[in-house]
Amino acid sequence: MKQMNNYIDKTFCQQDALLENVLASIVDNGMPAMSVSPSSGKLLTMLVSIAGAKDILEIGALGGYSGICLARGIVGEGTLTSLELDEKYAHLAANNLAKAGFAQQVTYLTGPALQSLKQLVVDERSFDFFFIDADKDHYEQYLDDCIALAKPGALIVTDNVLAAGSVVNPEAPLKRYTATMKKFNVTVANHPQLESILLPIGDGITLSRVKK
Ligand code: SAM
Repeated sequence: MKQMNNYIDKTFCQQDALLENVLASIVDNGMPAMSVSPSSGKLLTMLVSIAGAKDILEIGALGGYSGICLARGIVGEGTLTSLELDEKYAHLAANNLAKAGFAQQVTYLTGPALQSLKQLVVDERSFDFFFIDADKDHYEQYLDDCIALAKPGALIVTDNVLAAGSVVNPEAPLKRYTATMKKFNVTVANHPQLESILLPIGDGITLSRVKK
């Protein structure tokens, strides 16, 4: 899996000084290196633009790497709302999005994502693109909340669904969230309101279209 990802990153992702600076800022701030891979980031940009998405919701910001990739895909006017538990992380992400020229388009809501999601439902917000990339234990609840906030035909993209290959390869070291992701994938694949597929890019990404 690692070899395949290195090949895809190397062949399809150009050098990107802006994103490399985001990764460096994460290290400089003593934060964990868990941004999406370059190919996953590129896929996010392409999906947002292909879908023509205007209102995007991200769950899990870290230092803003995936946020920049999502914002880059917006054609014309649009917004990115990003949910992040840690205020320090949200602050760095906001700085990095501003450096990338997206300050006017992005809003960070800090605190547990489940609380922010509840508030977005109360506020009657709706979105046409979702990216789920936070704590794995809540993925099923995040999925339900995203469906509740989705415009018809919205796209829900979820990261880490292969858990470093451990959901398919019995020889791969088990991750803390291997069993959680196995269960999540079955839920996504069989959800009556979704049409879904899994792409083995990065740490595995599911694409789910909310049925109209
Ligand atoms: N999407 C980011 C990127 O690729 O640039 C990486 C996100 S990182 C894998 C997961 C993030 O989820 C961390 O920044 C973490 O603080 C955040 N997180 C963890 N638990 C959370 C929760 N309950 N609510 C909101 N954010 C949470």
